[in-house]
Amino acid sequence: MADYLFYTYFEEGREYFVYKDLTFERSHKKEKDFPFLESLLRFTYLDIWPMEDLFKQMDKALLNFYREHNFDSQAAVMGILEALAKKHIYFEFLRLDWQARFRYMDHHPDEDVYKHLPHKQLRHIPSDLDTLQKQVMRLFEDVLDIDDGKKKPVREKLQAYLDKEKKEPLYAYQFRPISTTYERTNNGSFAEMLHPTSLSDLVEFSIRECVKREQRMRICSYCGKYFAIPRRNTAEFCNLTVDENGHTCREVGAVKRWAEKKNSDELFKEYRREYKKRFNWIKAGRISPGAFYAWSATAKGKRDECATGKMSFEEFKKWMAES
Ligand SMILES: [Zn+2]
Repeated sequence: MADYLFYTYFEEGREYFVYKDLTFERSHKKEKDFPFLESLLRFTYLDIWPMEDLFKQMDKALLNFYREHNFDSQAAVMGILEALAKKHIYFEFLRLDWQARFRYMDHHPDEDVYKHLPHKQLRHIPSDLDTLQKQVMRLFEDVLDIDDGKKKPVREKLQAYLDKEKKEPLYAYQFRPISTTYERTNNGSFAEMLHPTSLSDLVEFSIRECVKREQRMRICSYCGKYFAIPRRNTAEFCNLTVDENGHTCREVGAVKRWAEKKNSDELFKEYRREYKKRFNWIKAGRISPGAFYAWSATAKGKRDECATGKMSFEEFKKWMAES
């Protein structure tokens, strides 16, 4: 059924995605690569709810397609998938996969359209992703966070994380089977490769690698999001989040570091401590995710005011305590 190529692998601290539409002779193989774990992290922080309407539109167009087999409905779905593919590399896979599904139905009009173009698969992406994002965040928090102050080995923390599922359904990410091959990469070495059959295959491949490597994770002192830190590296800022001027947290953070006095360490520590404390309140049901993000946006603003000297550290602590 597949008339496209899409595969991914890890090599020397980077992740590679190779894809190609095989129906066009002249189409070139495209290759994208990112630092290890970047695609999973971006997926984990993808703001999916503002996009929910797009998934509803695709659902509607598909139901229409079931009835009429018309080109307009197909074009509506593919147009949205193209837009999504620009937002995240995993959605590039989704686009190619659905394109192949529509082509298959074109050539096999008597086949079961519900089976080959399952509308629920698209319709459920926002809520599935929402659940997954929370599970991955808890995995970072409970198992891989190197600032958690626990001296336990990763395997024990992982077991405790998985065990929580018994008391709280949907708490932990559930590992599932995927099928990989062992192949030669473009660089001439060999690596385990995934030719995904679903979005969840891509997620599984990354999560599994991350746990296998016991990848150390840290909350960026600047943007407040998790990032992967290499061994023997003490990075405090991520390289993922880019501000409106095109600077990453690491760049902005380095300048800040240089310019700031000693008490800024205390400031970021205080912020991080409060951030984590309140993040845990979500799990405990004491605060809604919305209220938490509103708070963290304001707190980050206050923190930056303090970092640039517009507010004293005492005032900042007082604000934190009262907010
Ligand atoms: Zn950052």
